[in-house]
Amino acid sequence: MGVFVRMNNVISPANGGFAMLTQINGLHHVTSLASGAQENNDFFTKVLGLRRVKKTVNFDAPEVYHLYYGDELGTPGTVMTYFPFPNARRGRPGAGEVAVTAFAIPKGSRDWWADRLASLGVKGIEKQDYLGEARLRFQGPDGDGFALVEADDGRAPWTGGDVDVDHAIRGFHSTQMRLNDKGATAELLKFMGYEAQDKAGDITRFALQNGNGAHVIDVETLPQAPMAAQGAGSVHHVAFSVDNREAQLAVRKSLMDTGYQVTPVIDRDYFWAIYFRTPGGVLFEIATNEPGFDRDEDRAHLGEALKLPSQHAHLRDLLEREYLEPIRD
Ligand code: ZN
Repeated sequence: MGVFVRMNNVISPANGGFAMLTQINGLHHVTSLASGAQENNDFFTKVLGLRRVKKTVNFDAPEVYHLYYGDELGTPGTVMTYFPFPNARRGRPGAGEVAVTAFAIPKGSRDWWADRLASLGVKGIEKQDYLGEARLRFQGPDGDGFALVEADDGRAPWTGGDVDVDHAIRGFHSTQMRLNDKGATAELLKFMGYEAQDKAGDITRFALQNGNGAHVIDVETLPQAPMAAQGAGSVHHVAFSVDNREAQLAVRKSLMDTGYQVTPVIDRDYFWAIYFRTPGGVLFEIATNEPGFDRDEDRAHLGEALKLPSQHAHLRDLLEREYLEPIRD
């Protein structure tokens, strides 16, 4: 890649060519759609052993929960989030979406997980050797595409559930996007700082140097696949982490200078967000690591109470009485 010159938070190859962002840390969160809040809650907390770190509502549709699961504090790179729409129709898998969301587990723990998931009635369990890694594919309650991947991962897991430290999920490992054509998306990922690292069949693996542990993106190219139809079990968007609002503004400006249409910065209470649609059809978000999920709750009790965005606070009685099914923990 030659010699790099650092200027204004952007690294430019000294020989000209494209500028590359340096602010992206890896994934921040992945947000998906579900059909049932209770089932969703039980799957992530009781089957996968994650901590529910926030129970709130969709900013734009406060009659729908927004549930967040992750490590102890919901560290960026560990946070799986859901909008459960009661009785939502299932999505139809296809191109232009995130097909697989993968979590990192310790080396040697795949068989333990295979037995656990089977004993708990999880569907679609399949051991695979994939890009040199041992992974376990399985489905979420709405047919969601998931995998556990054995990895050397130094992140501390949440062990307050019933999965012990030798097996517990460390956070995201990667997401696998399924696209008709990867060209423009590959360019975007490179612009975001990712490098093509490996290739096998239809899959190209992109990774960040010095990422947050959740810094791998696989792109599967299936030129003939029909476009996905979003519904329960589909990923709605994937969010990438930046440290703070200053980094986010720099990323926003660079994306817009490159021709992307990016939303204004939106306050999501636990992070600030910007969104843009990628060439392959997947919705990307850039989210700040600040302020975090403990901004309005004691760390010992994260995710227990229903927290409402201030503009919806006056709806609490109505929402709890008419719309939001109580979740039994
Ligand atoms: Zn998001």
